[in-house]
Amino acid sequence: MDILLVEDDPSVAASVIDGLSSSGLTISHVDNGKDAIAYVNRSAPDLILLDLGLPDMDGQDVCRAIRQDHATPIIILSARSEEVDRVLALEFGADDYLVKPFGMRELVARIKAVARRTSGTISDSQANQQVLGPIRIDRRSQRVFVNENEVHLTPKEFDLLAYLATDPGAIYRRSDIMNEVWDTNWYGTTKTVDAHVAALRKKLGDQDWIEAVRGVGFRLGVPDS
Ligand code: CA
Repeated sequence: MDILLVEDDPSVAASVIDGLSSSGLTISHVDNGKDAIAYVNRSAPDLILLDLGLPDMDGQDVCRAIRQDHATPIIILSARSEEVDRVLALEFGADDYLVKPFGMRELVARIKAVARRTSGTISDSQANQQVLGPIRIDRRSQRVFVNENEVHLTPKEFDLLAYLATDPGAIYRRSDIMNEVWDTNWYGTTKTVDAHVAALRKKLGDQDWIEAVRGVGFRLGVPDS
């Protein structure tokens, strides 16, 4: 697994590289936003660890720029002093969020959890196609099409849609969605779910396909063919 670390603080970078290398992960390191975007375009790493306070660009803008073209999982690393709202971090396309200082065991656990959630593990492509009216979900390649036009979702948005599509029409509670789509140790609020539902509705192009059930959660309304 190739991981890109984007971090301008040499001591933080050194300890992350050290800790992850001893866990058997391959780390590349850049210390600014421009190099990070260039690296991702060139080398397509499996996962990105992104510091928010970078010398040349705001980490949020780096995240957004990468997200335009890549679904690579991104874990934000942020100093307490520059802590942004976690919902915001997810809105600009991150998959998880760690506040410095963090332990290496925690970082490795988060990397593995994000990698597990975002990797396609089953090989039979036909068996992983789900068609719901105009929506086609390909679970293997994690791609979604509406009327055969691809809709570009972040890994989290995909996981959310795929989860709601497990049983179309069934109501899923916010807490179950949090546990299933985010980690059980995710400490964000259920607002995270609402933010992702809003983003997903916008991208799918029809507000009614994800129905809010007041006080309970959400369900995927099966669209007519
Ligand atoms: Ca920094």
